[in-house]
Amino acid sequence: MRTQRQVVDYALQRRALLAEVYSGRVGTNEVCDASPYLLRAAKFHGQPSDVTCPVCRKEPLTLVSWVYGDELKHAAGSARTADELTRMATLFGEFSVYVVEVCRTCSWNHLVQSYVLGTRGLRESKPRRRTAAE
Ligand SMILES: [Zn+2]
Repeated sequence: MRTQRQVVDYALQRRALLAEVYSGRVGTNEVCDASPYLLRAAKFHGQPSDVTCPVCRKEPLTLVSWVYGDELKHAAGSARTADELTRMATLFGEFSVYVVEVCRTCSWNHLVQSYVLGTRGLRESKPRRRTAAE
């Protein structure tokens, strides 16, 4: 997306947690704990990924994007589809997106990526002109 910025990747944390699970130090019941709310969001707003669930290996993970930000008002904390995110990126100045992967079979879930979207990013990508206040 054009206004995407401040991208944070959580692959390292994910790998570290999975290493704990594979070694048996962390039980699958501790990490496969997606709430009914998250599973519902995966069903209705999720995007299929091409990554197979690292725990049960039975199905591809579903990606759910949660949006947060003061500007969003009542929409803050809701799950959104890719199309909705694209539209919102043109409507709001700035909001955060947290992408969570979910397995709808075993309920494994983990934060994958977070980033910021919104029209303020368009202004930032133009050559910066410093103001006297900076
Ligand atoms: Zn699974």
